[in-house]
Amino acid sequence: MRELCPYRKFPGCEQLPELLLQCTEPQFHGRKYQIDLPWVLGNFVYATDGRIIARMPIKGLKKPLVQFLRDMTTRCVPNALPVYVGEFEDKPTKLPKIEDPRIECDTCNGKGYVTTACPICRPGTPDWKPECPGCKGTKERVYGCEKCEMDGWVYQDTDRWCPVGWVAIAQNYLYLLQTNGVKEVFEPKQAPEPAAVKWVKDNIEGRLMPSSRTAAEVRKERRRKRA
Ligand SMILES: [Zn+2]
Ligand SMILES: [Zn+2]
Repeated sequence: MRELCPYRKFPGCEQLPELLLQCTEPQFHGRKYQIDLPWVLGNFVYATDGRIIARMPIKGLKKPLVQFLRDMTTRCVPNALPVYVGEFEDKPTKLPKIEDPRIECDTCNGKGYVTTACPICRPGTPDWKPECPGCKGTKERVYGCEKCEMDGWVYQDTDRWCPVGWVAIAQNYLYLLQTNGVKEVFEPKQAPEPAAVKWVKDNIEGRLMPSSRTAAEVRKERRRKRA
């Protein structure tokens, strides 16, 4: 079971939509990007994992919840405002329907990291010391999982990127949006580099970072792999 946002335990947090909370949680997208808890800035509550971000107005949320979120908001929250500027196509682009693309990584059992016995002190040996520099006394060393690149998930499709318009979006994020009823995105106006796409669901407005490659580049890469 992957970690859920600890705020879910706070009474009142059920007012926060699943989609917003899931943007902070690693159940769709591994642990690599998980960077923060929801926070309040100005009139919005934000949530991000570093690749997808969502925000909704605090207006309409009950006061104790808003107070809780404000109290928990530290000064070092991500600067989300630049992500929310940018020009988008007026016409939405339909998202392709996909099956759940994720398979739990069997090397790390979905954790994104593996632990091994500390190579310096080794448990059970007399050289174990509570202040061992290799493990600080835990007797274990933690390594990021190489197989899944610390995501916890591997993908059925060797290329996890899915062309959407002129950009390419990772399948796990497509699936996150799909399971929350988001059926379309607004592409960034064509530029040399793909920028964030915009998505909207009720009063939540989000952005999602696509691949640094364009859809054309991803398609070309796929053809090359198959050939
Ligand atoms: Zn793994
Ligand atoms: Zn050690």
